[in-house]
Amino acid sequence: MKSSLEDTLLAAIRTIPDYPRPGILFRDITTLLGNARAFRRAIDELVHPYAGLKIDKIAGIEARGFILGGAVAHQLSAGFVPIRKKGKLPYETVRVAYSLEYGLDEMEMHKDGVSPGEKVIVVDDLIATGGTAEAAVKLLRQIGADIVAACFVIDLPDLGGRQKLEALDVPVRTLIGYE
Ligand code: AMP
Repeated sequence: MKSSLEDTLLAAIRTIPDYPRPGILFRDITTLLGNARAFRRAIDELVHPYAGLKIDKIAGIEARGFILGGAVAHQLSAGFVPIRKKGKLPYETVRVAYSLEYGLDEMEMHKDGVSPGEKVIVVDDLIATGGTAEAAVKLLRQIGADIVAACFVIDLPDLGGRQKLEALDVPVRTLIGYE
């Protein structure tokens, strides 16, 4: 019998307790990426609502969003634009500051990574507080991108990330949640 998508994904994702700090349950998708069937099902499920919408670009958030976003871009025949921590991109960038648990960090993308009016989907592995994805949305909107959705394999719904993005008028798609 074919197992449900949720069962397949839950079985393929590994949880590491107390990483990177005590009290954090780290949801490790490297085991999902290494499982051909689970990886394929996750990507197929992420993309299917957007097939035929003529998406121009996938914006992948460093680092696991690069892997998932690259596969999503291929499936949708879209381009890919990396959103990175500051100081990693070689050309001129736009930049946004965002708050982490301790202090501030900055995120960048190339200023010509997206053109005004292009239809963009943001991709990352997991949404927790939504702070990272919110920063990505602000960066893309600085350039005038039309953000169609933000997609994640994993939601941590107790941390409120979905609501944070929906308050910015960004529809959110997630495949599984851990309470
Ligand atoms: P946030 O900005 O709070 O939504 O955090 C999301 C970012 O942090 C994503 O890039 C995730 O990869 C990473 N992240 C946050 N919490 C976890 C977790 N429990 N397990 C794995 N990655 C996490």
